[in-house]
Amino acid sequence: MSVLVVGSIALDTVKTPLEEHADLLGGSASYAAVGASFFSPVNLVGIVGNDFPGEHLEFLRARKIDLTGLQQVEGKTFRWSGEYMWDLNTRETRSVELNVFEHFTPTLPGAYTGAQIVLLANIAPKLQSHVLDQMNRPLFTIADTMDLWINIAREDLEALIKRVDMLILNDGEARQFTGETSLIKAGHKIRAMGPRFVAIKKGEHGCLLFGEGEFFSCAAYPLEDIHDPTGAGDTFAGGLAGHLAAGLANGGGGIDFARLRQAVVYGSVLASYNVEAFSLERLRSIKTHDIDARYQAFRALSQFEAIG
Ligand code: AMP
Repeated sequence: MSVLVVGSIALDTVKTPLEEHADLLGGSASYAAVGASFFSPVNLVGIVGNDFPGEHLEFLRARKIDLTGLQQVEGKTFRWSGEYMWDLNTRETRSVELNVFEHFTPTLPGAYTGAQIVLLANIAPKLQSHVLDQMNRPLFTIADTMDLWINIAREDLEALIKRVDMLILNDGEARQFTGETSLIKAGHKIRAMGPRFVAIKKGEHGCLLFGEGEFFSCAAYPLEDIHDPTGAGDTFAGGLAGHLAAGLANGGGGIDFARLRQAVVYGSVLASYNVEAFSLERLRSIKTHDIDARYQAFRALSQFEAIG
């Protein structure tokens, strides 16, 4: 039961008020694939240039991520640079160099087309739809997006979300997409546009999950030290997708709201680790028992007694 992850693979330069690091492993698919790999095998589709460091490929392989679908072509890898403000939440993009990403067409190796769980990490919605065109009846499809596509490719995005089971986006994007100030109204409005489930991420304030007549508000695990929030959303989506795949592999059955609730919590646990260091460094060092321990701590924190 592998998860198919398609998205960007990047070399990032990230500046926070206290630190700056250049040429880090990044990209929506890198975070998502590594996040998912803690729970299930992963097939990765993306593109890099011939400048992409071999050590990153080794790291991905060591996480048991299948790279048959990774295209390595002549040219430079996609580069992105961002700067965080003092709240470590507000971010400005400083530069984007598309490089080989400009002509990326995600092409699935035959063995990937039967994947049951598909995570369309952040790339142009037209490319995300192109992936779905190649799939052979997946059980559950998830799409992530960003403000850029809401601005420049709204029609493509609207067409895509009619075809996916779940859309994941952040609070600002949900408001931008729907024109609603209330996130609850925004969640319902997006569901009415197609996806059965919607997750709205609120950074350090957690996430909201919407389903058919069902709603779940998940806090974020409270952290004292956040070093780099880049990729938190992608790691969340990857962890969620991986956890769903593991559930199917272990117990079969379909994907219902209860399963998604649990997957959202596991996704949040993984995202909480990811932000503790730059790039994917923290995900490199954690083990399954760390995830389980934080899940239990998170659970204990989230329970409360009724008064009276
Ligand atoms: P997030 O912090 O979840 O918004 O994701 C950050 C990652 O998205 C970084 O590692 C970037 O390399 C990647 N990224 C930035 N802009 C784009 C874009 N236009 N398309 C795909 N990935 C992007």
